Amino acid sequence: MKKTIRDIDVSGKKVLVRCDFNVPQDENGNITDTRRIVGAVPTIKYLIEHNAKTILCSHLGRPKGEVNPKYSLKPVQEELSKELGKDVKLANDIIGESAKTLTSNMKDGEVVLLENVRFDKREEENDREFSKELASLAEIYVNDAFGTAHRAHSSTAGVSEFLPSVSGFLIEKELKFLGDSLNNPERPFVAILGGKKVSDKITVINNLLEKVDTLIIGGGMAYTFLKAQGMNIGKSVCEEDKLDLAKELLKKAESKNVKLLLPVDVVVGSEFSETAESKVVKASEIPDDWMGMDIGPETVEEFKKVLENAKTVMWNGPMGVFEFEKFACGTNEVAKILASANATTVIGGGDSAAAVEKVGLADKMTHISTGGGASLEFLEGKVLPGIDCLEDK
Ligand code: AMP
Repeated sequence: MKKTIRDIDVSGKKVLVRCDFNVPQDENGNITDTRRIVGAVPTIKYLIEHNAKTILCSHLGRPKGEVNPKYSLKPVQEELSKELGKDVKLANDIIGESAKTLTSNMKDGEVVLLENVRFDKREEENDREFSKELASLAEIYVNDAFGTAHRAHSSTAGVSEFLPSVSGFLIEKELKFLGDSLNNPERPFVAILGGKKVSDKITVINNLLEKVDTLIIGGGMAYTFLKAQGMNIGKSVCEEDKLDLAKELLKKAESKNVKLLLPVDVVVGSEFSETAESKVVKASEIPDDWMGMDIGPETVEEFKKVLENAKTVMWNGPMGVFEFEKFACGTNEVAKILASANATTVIGGGDSAAAVEKVGLADKMTHISTGGGASLEFLEGKVLPGIDCLEDK
């Protein structure tokens, strides 16, 4: 268990908080989705209410180590001031004159936002001197940016060498739901994996086979497994060089007594397009010129039987090419099943989170991770540098 801001005295102290303010913007710089800002508010409000001097930092986009007004945190400052009902001051640098002046004259309860940490190339290099200077602005470090916790950068990990370091409420929540579900799940524990490639998720599959009762595999990666079982998969996506590995994983599941479910029927398309002709066929009868684009209705029923009895479900990756409405059915149906399941439902970030939001069922899930890459690395069983650097309780 990691210490959180509740476990330390922040009163009167300067607290450097790494937030995830990497918000989407339109071409004019307007923020198109404020959820990441809203998500950071509980931690910031707690610090304000406990008389801390709060110094916020974040990256935005990929300015590649150079100052670029396009990636300024100015729009974030404006939105955050609105959310907090309080004026947030923006420094026009990270560790320069402006940052030093603004942070040295702070009163208790005040909030200062530093400029985009990626305006300095040393941030992503986790440069020790840069980390030290950034840390010198404050007395305590709080990491609340789960989305970048898998990166060892100055503001996500490096600063912790110089300051007492704890987590904010967002990271606390991620660790509770991802960590508890993975390491201490109420059973039956079912994981659903989808997405395009087996190669991206080999380590995840390997790790999950040690933990789950049932592993459901859908999406493009299912076809490599179907082929490994000797089926003809037509023009479906397949990683030929991963066929042996798929066979091994199937064997491993058997030896671990993990039920591994693959599609029994699929929706095939005549080509990879939104307007392709489509039909449902048995997974063992995919015609040569067609490609598997989604799981079929019988498969949805099979998955449903297992999911209805599950007590913990983790989902990462779509069941088909859900960007095309015609092939989004399987993914949408799985989202609906999870929404009404009597289980703790944890959704990995990225595509599965987007799919759940698209069908308007986000608030029916127990937890939707704010970090795509970070949650995947967590599922792989990897140590995340941005979490590892925080103090244990
Ligand atoms: P990933 O980034 O590995 O999670 O993969 C997500 C992508 O997988 C999405 O863009 C989907 O369109 C794609 N995908 C899912 N099912 C299939 C499929 N049957 N064939 C090709 N691509 C797929």
